[in-house]
Amino acid sequence: MIKFSVSRLEKEPIELVGEEPPQWLEIEPTDLLKVSESVHYDLLAKAVSGGALVEGKVSTVLSGVCGRCLEPITQKIENSGLHLFFELPKADELDISEDIRGEILLEIPMNLLCSENCRGLCPRCGKNQNMDKCACCDNEEPDDRWGALDNLKL
Ligand SMILES: [Zn+2]
Ligand SMILES: [Zn+2]
Repeated sequence: MIKFSVSRLEKEPIELVGEEPPQWLEIEPTDLLKVSESVHYDLLAKAVSGGALVEGKVSTVLSGVCGRCLEPITQKIENSGLHLFFELPKADELDISEDIRGEILLEIPMNLLCSENCRGLCPRCGKNQNMDKCACCDNEEPDDRWGALDNLKL
């Protein structure tokens, strides 16, 4: 739980630094994607007019496979620009766990990608196109097709 005392906040800013286990995000782990490290948070809560302002960052590490080429990968994700306003509760304790969790969930992609430019697998033979070209792709000879287009323009 990420929480702090309101009466203490009214006296001084409060640093909230710590971690929560991967299960805290309640993401069903699959072979494609799972949260593989604790969720780290590094926040500063300040009293402002009418409430509390919480700023800082939250991060974790995902692991799984690339959604295109199926290579195993790990990827750090971080939301480093947190800027959340809370109204002060009647009780002395303000629990911001749900809000912080929402902020890191925003950063979790549907699919992991080893790189934006990942070329995926060959649709015919299944070979990883980021490595050597396979024989079936060589046979396609895309350069020749472009050559034909150039001829048409002439
Ligand atoms: Zn890939
Ligand atoms: Zn192929």
